[in-house]
Amino acid sequence: MALFDLTGKKAIVTGAGRGLGEAIALGLAQAGADVALVTNRTPADKSAAKIAEMGRKAITIQADVGDRTKLPGIVERTVDELGGVDILVNNAGIIRRTPAVEHSYEDWQDVMDVNLNSVFVLCQLAGKHMIAQGSGKIINIASMLSYQGGITVPGYASSKHAVAGLTKALANEWAAKGLQVNAIAPGYMSTDNTEALREDPVRSTQILQRIPAGRWGTSEDLIGPAVFLASSASDYMNGHILAVDGGWLVR
Ligand code: NAP
Repeated sequence: MALFDLTGKKAIVTGAGRGLGEAIALGLAQAGADVALVTNRTPADKSAAKIAEMGRKAITIQADVGDRTKLPGIVERTVDELGGVDILVNNAGIIRRTPAVEHSYEDWQDVMDVNLNSVFVLCQLAGKHMIAQGSGKIINIASMLSYQGGITVPGYASSKHAVAGLTKALANEWAAKGLQVNAIAPGYMSTDNTEALREDPVRSTQILQRIPAGRWGTSEDLIGPAVFLASSASDYMNGHILAVDGGWLVR
């Protein structure tokens, strides 16, 4: 399936040490890509070893993406050590749960720095390389809360609405330059991000009842959509927010 083949492509995946990002990074490597695994606190050495076993290159980059001074180094190291950048997956994200009146400005700012500001700056930095080479694939990880307000997560919902808006804005500017900028909006996936929800018997039952597929998503559920959006199979897709949600949105 040449349409989905990523052989020789160089990918950056943020938040690649665990959860959705780890699965996406391994999935891109399985499809042929060399991968820069960006992590903050979780080492990605095991994933790097698995990618090497597949016969691809992997580098690990430790960086707090909420600190924008660290972002140029991510793209520079990828270009230097992997030889370029063809795919950028902005996956790193945090969530802070408190009612709006108690949501501290610090929480708001932290969420914006990681979930939105890093996405803008990394798109800009990688986008420059991609524009120069006339091709590139950017996949931003959005959320159901790119469409909905959520409950007690005002900063997170605002950041993810903005990720959807940014994805569309960049797609408009860069489609004619050979870049495809799209987003994946995962539904309710079983990762650390949703641990509090899954442990709350009321919320977990409410959530599960609304998912037509009848189960929480897994990290592996994102591999196919990510490979698709990273590959030439999606060359005429621009600014699309692809829900991977077991049907949550259509309920
Ligand atoms: P997770 O299990 O909580 O993992 C969060 C990831 O983000 C980790 O890899 C973490 O890296 C990274 N990260 C957080 N802060 C960072 C920072 N300052 N610098 C660098 N990396 C940082 O979350 P997940 O469920 O895999 O979520 C991944 C993405 O999907 C997020 O954008 C999230 O909002 C989105 N999402 C998740 C769901 C869901 O149901 N799980 C639904 C919709 C959207 P370290 O461990 O190295 O710190």
